[in-house]
Amino acid sequence: MDRSLFRLLPLATLGSALFLVSLPAAHAGTLAENLATMEQQSPIDITSQDTKFQALPPLQFNLSSDTTLSVINNGSPDVYATAARAIVPAGAGSVTLNGDTYNLAQFHFHTPAENLENGHTYPMEMHLVFSDASNNLLVVGRWVDASDAHNPPQTSLDPIFSDLPKTTTETHVFNHFDLNTLLPSNLESFRYDGSLTTPPFSEGVKWVDLAQPLYISQADINAYSSLFPNGDAREIQDLNGRIVLTDVPGFASAVPEPETYAMLLAGLALIGFVAARRSRSRSSFGSMGSIA
Ligand SMILES: [Zn+2]
Repeated sequence: MDRSLFRLLPLATLGSALFLVSLPAAHAGTLAENLATMEQQSPIDITSQDTKFQALPPLQFNLSSDTTLSVINNGSPDVYATAARAIVPAGAGSVTLNGDTYNLAQFHFHTPAENLENGHTYPMEMHLVFSDASNNLLVVGRWVDASDAHNPPQTSLDPIFSDLPKTTTETHVFNHFDLNTLLPSNLESFRYDGSLTTPPFSEGVKWVDLAQPLYISQADINAYSSLFPNGDAREIQDLNGRIVLTDVPGFASAVPEPETYAMLLAGLALIGFVAARRSRSRSSFGSMGSIA
């Protein structure tokens, strides 16, 4: 066993990774060595120029309206791994995408937001972490912003933000929580292939960033920010050629990829070819007689 791995991963970080034990365990080298070979990392700056508009498969959420949350502070000295996390009981929530059902394990927050929107940094971001039967991860992200006159606050989280666990030994239990209050009615999103934003930064994570922010009170944002005064957000990562897909009208400015043009031209050529054959076969029908 490579002991340097343990020097790089403090125990608390390992603890945080334990939730993800079933991820592809590609820890043959050190974390730094692995990171050097990884090219689909999160978070990213979601920009219009790298985003393509298209119809996206629907997200079918099935969330309990009355569940119990166990909120912990995983309190690692490693800034990347620190967060207040609400653990959700098994069976309390799921999302189905492309026929695959992912179960909600937990949700947590980052300050400031990790993913950016055209360079804009929201004060916070929420991540709902789902995994399917094969332990593939899907993270539903939602930007969090301060409520104002046009955007009333979602108050369901007030009890949590007014009683955040300040140490790693506390677990605060909140009963009768409606998970549906975490989602907007409009599920338009940005989707890309990425990674965990905390060690071991494993890739193969499907990201769905909901376009509509979650508005909470400034007091709630202040409460979370004061618990993590240095922030608990990873810096943005290179896209390395990735294209973000979106069904948000008017956001994307990425032109179709060259392959799309090639396919379009091939399609037109095929249509022309078929039309020409039909026209030829009609004209030769008389001389061939009926072949049926
Ligand atoms: Zn996160």
